[in-house]
Amino acid sequence: AAMEVDDPAPRGGAPPRIRRLEESVVNRIAAGEVIQRPSSAVKELVENSIDAGASTVSVTVKDGGLKLIQVSDDGHGIRCEDLPILCERHTTSKLSAYEDLQTIKSMGFRGEALASMTYVGHVTVTTITEGQLHGYRVSYRDGVMENDPKPCAAVKGTQVMVENLFYNMVARRKTLQNSNDDYPKIVDFISRFAVHHINVNFSCRKHGANRADVHSGSTSSRLDAIRNVYGASVVRDLMEIQVSDENAVDEIFKMDGFISNANYVAKKTTMILFINDRLVDCTSLKRATEFVYSAILPQASKPFIYMSINLPPEHVDVNIHPTKKEVSLLNQERIIEKIKDAIEEKLMNCNNTRIFQTQALNSSALTQANTRKDKGTEVSTPTGEKSQKIPVSQMVRTDPRDPSGRLHTYWQGQTSNLEKKSGLVAVRNIVRSRRNPKDAGDLSSRHELVTEIDYNLHPGLFDIVKNCTYVGVADEVFALIQHNTLLYLVNVVNVSKELMYQQALCRFGNFNAIQLSEPAPLLELLTMALKDDESMSDVNEKEKLEIAEVNTEILKENAEMINEYFSIHIDQGGNLTRLPVVLDQYTPDMDRLPEFMLTLGNDIAWDVEKECFRTAAAAIGNFYALHPPILPNPSGKGIRLYKKNKDSMESAGQADNDLTSTDEDDIDQELLAEAEAAWAQREWTIQHVLFPSMRLFLKPPKSMATDGTFVQMTRHQHTL
Ligand code: ADP
Ligand code: MG
Repeated sequence: AAMEVDDPAPRGGAPPRIRRLEESVVNRIAAGEVIQRPSSAVKELVENSIDAGASTVSVTVKDGGLKLIQVSDDGHGIRCEDLPILCERHTTSKLSAYEDLQTIKSMGFRGEALASMTYVGHVTVTTITEGQLHGYRVSYRDGVMENDPKPCAAVKGTQVMVENLFYNMVARRKTLQNSNDDYPKIVDFISRFAVHHINVNFSCRKHGANRADVHSGSTSSRLDAIRNVYGASVVRDLMEIQVSDENAVDEIFKMDGFISNANYVAKKTTMILFINDRLVDCTSLKRATEFVYSAILPQASKPFIYMSINLPPEHVDVNIHPTKKEVSLLNQERIIEKIKDAIEEKLMNCNNTRIFQTQALNSSALTQANTRKDKGTEVSTPTGEKSQKIPVSQMVRTDPRDPSGRLHTYWQGQTSNLEKKSGLVAVRNIVRSRRNPKDAGDLSSRHELVTEIDYNLHPGLFDIVKNCTYVGVADEVFALIQHNTLLYLVNVVNVSKELMYQQALCRFGNFNAIQLSEPAPLLELLTMALKDDESMSDVNEKEKLEIAEVNTEILKENAEMINEYFSIHIDQGGNLTRLPVVLDQYTPDMDRLPEFMLTLGNDIAWDVEKECFRTAAAAIGNFYALHPPILPNPSGKGIRLYKKNKDSMESAGQADNDLTSTDEDDIDQELLAEAEAAWAQREWTIQHVLFPSMRLFLKPPKSMATDGTFVQMTRHQHTL
């Protein structure tokens, strides 16, 4: 029955009347938008203090801010004669004409914050200006003074107290009371401000507590500020970053900040972003940053980011959000792209130098390994190896469970002489990279090779690689990608070979290492390779052994060089112990290791530096490329190849409809499982490692446009 009376739109009846809302209701609704939660009130108050030039800002909070929020500063204060209109809507000292909005530098500008607070809470202001003998105190409700300002004793600056927030918004108050306390959010805001405004001393505490939860101190160093708020462990893993774009005529933007390196571990991203000194969110920039981290770093850690971006004020629209939380920027995509590139570059460099720290710590920590076991593992966790799924040959097995343990065994297994020597190489590299971090290990021939890559770049293919969507594997060699409206077949072997070659040159002298669990004797590897090499079929066993011996000697002679530049480590006994990580999260197919060693022994031009680097990088490229697995693909008709019965395997060629007769017992299940795993692993790697890495790193050469590496599918092929 009640329904009939109250129904706002009775079916078939007259439309409901439109009424004008009472002004107090309008104001309260508007206020509720500006002040959404206690933490948004704190943010506005702290921004006012900063706008007032404060060098100390203290925040006290009771009951998550619902009972009391108090913000005290030592800023310029408020004139007595301004107090009557202080809390009216749209009263501000910061903006007078609409045009000023374009160049506004202060954080507040709409004169809305204080007024809003008086509509949803009880506001009391105490303030004193420079040179006055006493201050004034006055309380506000619904935008107006409750009484004339009362003279009172006061210290420099302003104190704003907000009590009983949302007392007149029952639903909001209930929701806030039932949900988590806003205090952590408040602490989070203050921490962020403290990182940016390093010369302001912020503190934040719960009412009645004598310890502050944030106490930033004022400092002249950004890192000190971050240390004071987020702790020394965070600061240890930060790198400075700067980007600017001053050559473009229409755009001047500058970013500087600190970003976490590969050693930083956290479950959640911390992104402290200031644009023109305004604390804001920019979801797309955050996403882009997280993407770069997850693509480059092998651990699943989320980053810590502090960024301060400065743009001409007219390029930032600060007025799109009631709380000024999100901003929109002119040329947003371009700016994000630039920043993304800079982070990529930083991370690549830090990723590369990491292993040297690990090595140095390991070799020097040897003596302490027994006494400080846990500490030792902590510092020596090499990051490239943990998550690798490794198709291992029988001879060379790596242990993915305990990489740090393996490193220790490895170092302990060395003769003391070599141990010293390896230590020296590592130390030398560290010193060199410290002196000149950008040019670490940069020899002019390798520089020339890198320049050649840039020179040979095909811009069209580059664009395709950067912006394509992966569709799937097409067959054993080709994958299908989409770019704009077109489909392309991409030769996975060719592109991965080129990618690995380019990465080998980029990471030159700075590789992480894959440690073999057992040293692999070169002589055996080479003998195996020669046995498999069809071009050697007319050479007898004895001669093959001699060739293997000669190649072993050649590799041993050049061991120091290939270790230093390519992290291919051969010990004095002629065993291979270590391979480079060319792409994170990727280990080459160890079945191809013998062939790789033979190529190194046979094909490297050791005497000519540039050719030597080129051929070595090409050999690495070929070894690390994503070749089809040696076991044939068992899917579809390929299953016949896994029949135990030799006869039926030979007749398989003719009997095309033989498929139905392949019953379970006749199949070599173990081999089949191994083949299936290898092919599935390959498909996964193509999608999740190869293509994301190509997007980041590959510079496709011009030749790939014509040699069948990229094939554009015609409409005709498409419809087939
Ligand atoms: P806005 O910051 O957008 O101008 P507010 O409502 O936050 O609007 O503040 C209104 C005005 O009150 C400010 O323009 C400023 O002149 C004054 N004011 C507010 N807080 C302080 C403070 N802590 N110290 C000095 N002046 C203040
Ligand atoms: Mg303000």
